[in-house]
Amino acid sequence: MGCTKEVKLTHVYRCPSCGNRFSSSSPTFRCPKCRSKFLIHEEGPPLKRAKNCRGSCSGCSGCGG
Ligand SMILES: [Zn+2]
Repeated sequence: MGCTKEVKLTHVYRCPSCGNRFSSSSPTFRCPKCRSKFLIHEEGPPLKRAKNCRGSCSGCSGCGG
């Protein structure tokens, strides 16, 4: 209850490898369960990517490392 809207900064990811669904307050690019690097970003603010990045350059803020 209340009038203040909180910006949702929680990212929700789903791992297609093991089916693990988890949330993180910061961009995560690895499944904590099976360490798969391929995650589906389900919820949260859009990730910033470099212009020439397709999601796997590991060099921009949209990829992490
Ligand atoms: Zn996984």
